[in-house]
Amino acid sequence: MIQINHDKCDLCGACVGVCPFDAMELTENRLSILHERCTECNFCAEICPFEVLHNDGVAIRPPRKGAA
Ligand code: SF4
Ligand code: SF4
Repeated sequence: MIQINHDKCDLCGACVGVCPFDAMELTENRLSILHERCTECNFCAEICPFEVLHNDGVAIRPPRKGAA
């Protein structure tokens, strides 16, 4: 599951733009992740310039059938 270190986030929005699944929401003062939509692709974590996001490796749903 993707975790957010809110102390480090400057709300730049880069991660929101890169999420293919509309799983991120940015309000005026808070970033949040809609975990029911997130597929844990990690694109957001890779693009964040401040290393705010990381995947703790805990899946929120079982792997899809056929997934490696
Ligand atoms: S891990 Fe992927 S699906 Fe989940 S919030 Fe980040 S970019 Fe979106
Ligand atoms: S890219 Fe990083 S700093 Fe920018 S809004 Fe997302 S988590 Fe925050």
